[in-house]
Amino acid sequence: MNRIVLASSNPGKLKEFGALLADSGFEVVPQASLGVDDAEETGLTFVENALIKARHAARATGLPALADDSGLCVDALGGAPGLYSARYSGGHGDAEANNAKLLRALDGVPDERRGAFFIGVLVLLRHAEDPAPLIAEGRWHGRILAEGRGSGGFGYNPVFLPDGHAQSVAEMDDALKNRLSHRGQALAALRRMLSAPT
Ligand code: IMP
Repeated sequence: MNRIVLASSNPGKLKEFGALLADSGFEVVPQASLGVDDAEETGLTFVENALIKARHAARATGLPALADDSGLCVDALGGAPGLYSARYSGGHGDAEANNAKLLRALDGVPDERRGAFFIGVLVLLRHAEDPAPLIAEGRWHGRILAEGRGSGGFGYNPVFLPDGHAQSVAEMDDALKNRLSHRGQALAALRRMLSAPT
């Protein structure tokens, strides 16, 4: 079976992407198991950072590489926290502090100006110099609540109310979230690209 390196050390993502590629003839291998360190994310957009991560992993291993980058963009904050979603409050991955900072930044902003979206970008490079990578994107629109609700999942889930739904993402069950989310949309788009004739 052909191996493909996943440019992430997140076990949740390994599971999702393994399932995505299960029927494609690829075995997904996390970069850490091949001794590859994290790339420096110097891009100014999600797609640039996903490309940087995928190219770094492909170059280090000689294998095809899959990378993703995602975050939350809030209209009233000019797209922040954006690329810096994971470390908005300083420490990497401190969701409670990130949510508290976001709610403070939007204090007093009325509902109609609390629009936001999650974005997820996936990049598949067939080799490090591949000039035509497969790039898939998903966006999940909604708004930021006045206070967090629910405890499911991670990150900004408690403060994000998807359009057309009465539950925050943290109140949704996983199956519904995966069907609607930015990552779910990007995975579905990549799956369509992989099954289309090239
Ligand atoms: P990364 O792509 O794993 O670096 O994720 C960036 C950050 O965006 C995460 O640490 C979260 O703060 C936020 N984020 C991305 N996707 C989601 C989501 O589905 N729910 C909540 N937060 C998310």
